[in-house]
Amino acid sequence: MNTMIRFTRILICLGLALCASYAGAETQAPTTKPQIKLYVFDCGILNYDDDTLKFFSVSASETTVRDLFVPCYVIEHKQGRLLWEGGLPSNSLTGAYGWQENKGWRMRLDKTFQEQLAQIGLGMDDFDYMAFSHLHFDHIGVANEVKGGTLLIQKDEYDAAFAEKVTVPAFKPELYNKLEQADKVILNGEHDVFGDGRVRLIPAPGHTPGHQVLFLDLNETGPIVLSGDLYHFRLSRERKLVPIFNVDKEKSLNSIEHIEQFLKESGAELWIEHELAQYEQIKKMPGCKLSPVLHCI
Ligand SMILES: [Zn+2]
Repeated sequence: MNTMIRFTRILICLGLALCASYAGAETQAPTTKPQIKLYVFDCGILNYDDDTLKFFSVSASETTVRDLFVPCYVIEHKQGRLLWEGGLPSNSLTGAYGWQENKGWRMRLDKTFQEQLAQIGLGMDDFDYMAFSHLHFDHIGVANEVKGGTLLIQKDEYDAAFAEKVTVPAFKPELYNKLEQADKVILNGEHDVFGDGRVRLIPAPGHTPGHQVLFLDLNETGPIVLSGDLYHFRLSRERKLVPIFNVDKEKSLNSIEHIEQFLKESGAELWIEHELAQYEQIKKMPGCKLSPVLHCI
């Protein structure tokens, strides 16, 4: 090939490459995704005897974990504020007295959610939405105290909770009965809370009839999924262990399959809500701060 033609071709290629990289730089400008803020509150601790670990299909020799963390979360989105999970009932406040004893297990709550919420200048009437992974007593502790938020609940959970005869283990209607009068959206599947895909409820039934998990697209930590009670222990995830009190074992396993697939496809990280070690880990994550309440963005 003539040297002149070759030289011209090299110049053209170089020019195109520069144009392409300039265009690329333009499209990769810093993201302007609005920030979503996730607050994590300490809404109690559950502690189990070796023997009662069997409720979770875990044996005492398999794990040293005996404490389960009980969180409440508040999600701040520019379109509104969501309460996710309600923790232990406020009347289980033990404070300095330590543990409230039950048969083979105990619980403690050092500070009410309301008291902690006040630390960030909010009250129980400041929620646009409330959603719970499910209605077990350790997830809806403050449900009856919320004033005015719209409840987002799967139909199967709602029907089981307000049936004439409530048969789901650990459902205590007296703790959530006011939800029946709340404004509500009854769901039959996934729900995009603020319409931009960044805060989404995803059904994961089996633990209870209408159990759900929460996907959050946070800016700094990246996308996460708050597990509800899909798992209680890290070990439950590793070995796909289904608690004996789940209402449907097959549905639980299907939900595990579905959510694990979703995690793979979305690249989201799973946060096991009850895992105390996970809570300690969150405190140290880049993008998360303790001031005055632990929050991640
Ligand atoms: Zn549960």
